[in-house]
Amino acid sequence: MSNYWSDMVKRTEPYVPGEQLNRSDIIKLNTNENPYPPSPRVKEAILREMDGQLQKYPSPSATPLRSVIASHFGVTEQEVFVGNGSDEVLAFSFMAFFHQHRKIRFPEVTYSFYPVYAKLFAIPYETVPLNADFTLDVDAFFHSEGGVILPNPNAPTSLYEDISSIEQILQKNPETVVIVDEAYIDFGGTSAIELTSRYDNLLVVQTTSKSRSLAGMRVGYAIGNPVLIDALMRIKDSFNSYTVDRLAMVAATAAIDDDAYFKRTTEKIVQTRELAISALQQVGFTVLPSKTNFVFATHASVQAETLYKQLKENNILVRHFNAPFIDNYLRISIGTDEQMEMLLTTLRKIL
Ligand SMILES: *Cc1c(COP(=O)(O)O)cnc(C)c1O
Repeated sequence: MSNYWSDMVKRTEPYVPGEQLNRSDIIKLNTNENPYPPSPRVKEAILREMDGQLQKYPSPSATPLRSVIASHFGVTEQEVFVGNGSDEVLAFSFMAFFHQHRKIRFPEVTYSFYPVYAKLFAIPYETVPLNADFTLDVDAFFHSEGGVILPNPNAPTSLYEDISSIEQILQKNPETVVIVDEAYIDFGGTSAIELTSRYDNLLVVQTTSKSRSLAGMRVGYAIGNPVLIDALMRIKDSFNSYTVDRLAMVAATAAIDDDAYFKRTTEKIVQTRELAISALQQVGFTVLPSKTNFVFATHASVQAETLYKQLKENNILVRHFNAPFIDNYLRISIGTDEQMEMLLTTLRKIL
């Protein structure tokens, strides 16, 4: 720590992303990237945009992209915000809706960026323990002081909570904003977007990083009441008018437009996931019922950390969290059928 540092820097505890070893001999099942490339229309759109557009600033209101998202989800453009990855949308949301003297709530086991943002913006928080089976203790989110944020499906547990539970949480927090982070919703859940027309306090955040194969482009979005979107715009325009660049904008637009490709690849991942779950069970794992593009698994006789290390020696990366409650679990992203077959072959050898 340095005297040159502001109080803000001093109180940060930065997020640590999964290792990015981009070696071609590594099977990377540790950051929930999509194993399939984005729709071929994405490349065409980027090439078109590169041809003579890059000297110009992008649209500050991100208009073409916002209108495509709006029509895709059957809402108006005024109900859509876009940002440089959903991580940025979430960070702006903490600034826009949470307060410095009112405790927010999120699950005890969840996306580890939430406590990072809370510390950065000096927002107090309390964590809600999960039930013994890792499901959400829904009632414990009622009557929060400062608001609620939770992923559905939750990460890294992969468990999906029915939207009737989300609706109860909304009803019991009428005075505060409830943020539902739907990074993995396209792998089997039902989005809470349909509730935004009835609940002014609901903000649904999604990303193109997982189901649309665009982690490298960094585009996320939020859908909610225009009053909430206006707050996010005010934060963005007090920070950086152009958070989404031209290439990211056209890439995300093309990816959202190509619904057939999206359906094909997400269905394929769901199918691979179900096969992987039974194969993992056959070699002694207990696997939580996943509605995401990853599985959360623990082995009956071998420690998760040992497995993580031995897989890594065999050039297979999975995620292991050295954290309470989950340190005997591995989070394994769903890759291609071939990658999952390699994983299983290696596990059979190790076990
Ligand atoms: C991956 C992920 C995000 C972030 O996605 P980006 O849009 O790539 O920033 C947000 N929330 C959860 C729960 C995630 O797993």
